[in-house]
Amino acid sequence: MPSEARLRELQLECHADDIQLTEEMLSWPEERAREYLLSGGEQLDSLQPPAGHCAPCESREGVVYTAWRVWDGLSDVCMRDAGGALMCVAVLGELIAFVGSLAELPAELARLNRVDYGDATIMPGLIDAHVHIEFDPRYGLHDQPELSVSQHDRQMQVRAAAMARHGITTARDLGGRGGAFRLREQIRSGACIGPRLLVAGQAVTRPGGHCHQWGGAAKDETEMVKVIQRQVANSADLIKVMATGGVRTAGTNPAQSAFTSKEMRIAVACAAAAGLRVAAHAHGVHGIRACADAKVGTVEHCSWVDERGRWGCVDRKCAAALAQAGTFVCPTVPASWGQSRFQGLKQTMGAAYRVMLSAGVRFAAGTDSGAIPNVWHHQLLDGLLVFGDAAEMSAAQLLRCATSEAAAACALEATTGMLTDGYAADLLVVPGNPLRPAHPQADFFEELERSLRHPLAVVCRGMHIEPCQPPASSYPAWTASGDVRACACTLTARGQAPST
Ligand SMILES: [Zn+2]
Ligand SMILES: [Zn+2]
Repeated sequence: MPSEARLRELQLECHADDIQLTEEMLSWPEERAREYLLSGGEQLDSLQPPAGHCAPCESREGVVYTAWRVWDGLSDVCMRDAGGALMCVAVLGELIAFVGSLAELPAELARLNRVDYGDATIMPGLIDAHVHIEFDPRYGLHDQPELSVSQHDRQMQVRAAAMARHGITTARDLGGRGGAFRLREQIRSGACIGPRLLVAGQAVTRPGGHCHQWGGAAKDETEMVKVIQRQVANSADLIKVMATGGVRTAGTNPAQSAFTSKEMRIAVACAAAAGLRVAAHAHGVHGIRACADAKVGTVEHCSWVDERGRWGCVDRKCAAALAQAGTFVCPTVPASWGQSRFQGLKQTMGAAYRVMLSAGVRFAAGTDSGAIPNVWHHQLLDGLLVFGDAAEMSAAQLLRCATSEAAAACALEATTGMLTDGYAADLLVVPGNPLRPAHPQADFFEELERSLRHPLAVVCRGMHIEPCQPPASSYPAWTASGDVRACACTLTARGQAPST
């Protein structure tokens, strides 16, 4: 930020002594002040950051975020400075340059602008390892409205922005008709805000099988290879395989396997040849066994449904094999399991998760948003709390599932999910300490929820994004023209729709 003296110098350099300097300009990056002065003070609006981005990082040059605590995404407790100094995370461009006590901040980073959050915790941004960004949760998965490409793009952009504003800085899209590829590029290019997206494209399935409507049906091995190669050619980040029937595709049975172990192994080998991993949708016990045998990257749902349709029938040997293979489980527990009518299912599946945990299986957070009616893309926290409760996890264990563990499940363990030098600057700043109860009698998740429901800041790949506070329960109704703008919480918080 330029000093007043520097602004006067700039004014002379730009031959702009007729333009009045304002106090506001002291908070601008020098480059912006220069452009403003050069433009004759006329083009201020065009220099404003796009909606959703705000001051601290608009120059993308760098910023030091400070707070009482830092949680690195791995530890059981937050880090604090023993001498009482603030903790900090320094961001340069899109990367983290330093994590630690402000007292130890390297001199070359000390010149950066600082933003202090006080009694707060800086932690890694959240990761949702299972979304379907193309689909509108107000409709059934296979009952989506027909939209033009531009209408669909706008709706996906709204979902992506809402996710980012609720602290989700990475998401793995596990299947659709191809629209998610467009959104991924729009986010990458900066045309819209949103989490880093990994996209699977069309899921490999049987003719008439789960989600065959997306165009990825394969009747034999040859066709399976073709479907996979088509996703690779479309620049897929991973391959999705529907290893069993699904709950939401008529005519399929979740208990029934769609592919043999041999076919699953071919899918894994074919994906690996392109450097990609397989995420396998699997409800049935037999299908999960085929996944373990083929060493897929992640098993989605992992419901352990037996031939009689009973859920939670864990095969302990198979759970051990999943752990041995390093296969992650993404349980996609919806918030509705917290309701009394799903109490039985939550208990059954909770017991299954605990068996898997004790076998050493690793878990990644995921919502299956878009595929389940009324599960919204920005509501990762809601289902996560119900899952943590069912699995009887500690607050740190649960948050790892949505940060460092999810990053590993997405093959991003060297990129994000942790706060360390050289990693992506994907940050979430929350009030208080999410890992510690407010008072001895309070349960852990109460504090975790209170903390994560009121994010103070979100940073996606170095870009500072205005958080939603408090989070919305749903979006406002789309207008007749399909011109959707923002999620309800933003509307409430700012009193108006931001122009996107
Ligand atoms: Zn699924
Ligand atoms: Zn899904």
